[in-house]
Amino acid sequence: MGTVFTTKLTRQKHLFAAILILLWLLVVCFMGLRFWLVTSNIEDGDLATKLLLFDDIFFVVIVVTTILISIIGVIVARLYSSLHLSVEQIDHEHERALRQEQDKIRMKRQLTNNINHELKTPICSIIGYLEMILNNEELDKATIRNFAQKSYLQAERLRRLVLDLSTITRIDEASSMIECEELDLSTLIDNIVDDTMPQAENQNISVISSIETKLPINGNQMLLYSVFRNLVDNSIAYSGGRQVFIELLETKDDMYHFKIRDNGIGIESKHLPYIFERFYRVDAGRSRKIGGTGLGLSIVKNAILFHGGTIYAQKAKAGGVEFLFTLKISQ
Ligand code: ADP
Repeated sequence: MGTVFTTKLTRQKHLFAAILILLWLLVVCFMGLRFWLVTSNIEDGDLATKLLLFDDIFFVVIVVTTILISIIGVIVARLYSSLHLSVEQIDHEHERALRQEQDKIRMKRQLTNNINHELKTPICSIIGYLEMILNNEELDKATIRNFAQKSYLQAERLRRLVLDLSTITRIDEASSMIECEELDLSTLIDNIVDDTMPQAENQNISVISSIETKLPINGNQMLLYSVFRNLVDNSIAYSGGRQVFIELLETKDDMYHFKIRDNGIGIESKHLPYIFERFYRVDAGRSRKIGGTGLGLSIVKNAILFHGGTIYAQKAKAGGVEFLFTLKISQ
């Protein structure tokens, strides 16, 4: 559309230039006529006066017309350039929107491929184990039990994946339907410390919260629980450290500023910009082995965004990784 418009404007510019050249040719002709009248010897004095008057009037008319057309030309040129600019801007915006739409489609396709892959893996394993049990009647009890246990673990992984996917989809596509209520974050954090105790003891790591006062917030219980639980679970599962600390740094401008850190192996800087992406894993093998879905930190980020906050991760000074995030107190 922009190109057709630009071509039309260019044609008008050429037309103006042609008219101006024509008018100046007429001026030259009339100057020539005047020169001829003055130098030629016309016998009829009356006719000569009339011709000179006619020549004068036409000369003035042509000059005035030329000035007017020049002024109109300048105005049109200005209009043209501003219109041309806005047409270019529209084209640019259009191109950008198109690129964004293509990026979205590409990301959705990539996500669908990832989801398919993640779902297929445990389903294929379960089918494989069940087929082995069903097709080998001579299998001993211990082997059958072993295959059944492996199938159970894969089914559990599948359950977690479906749960994580439904949480992400809910935040992504139905955030207006997520309900908020008045909660106390300190109670929620205390519950997480208690709930993760068996796991933590197993890994020889302690979960320590320094929060002692009540922290009222208007938010969604399930999502806020996911934020703290995923971060603590990750420290227990991946850090190999001895402590996980949950701290409230400050309360400012209707925001709580939290830090969750551990003193484990940390995350290499080259991975830090990507860890909140869906299905991004630093150590894919380890994540799968311990039942990670690759969606934990993505859920954390989306849940924090839903609560009007932001999150980032960095190397902790004392080693390990720290997650700094904010949560809006009133929605
Ligand atoms: P998953 O579901 O696989 O745990 P996450 O999105 O929760 O995926 O985490 C992404 C990756 O970040 C994990 O695979 C893990 O390698 C790394 N990670 C997250 N938290 C920590 C931590 N506290 N210490 C070391 N690595 C971590």
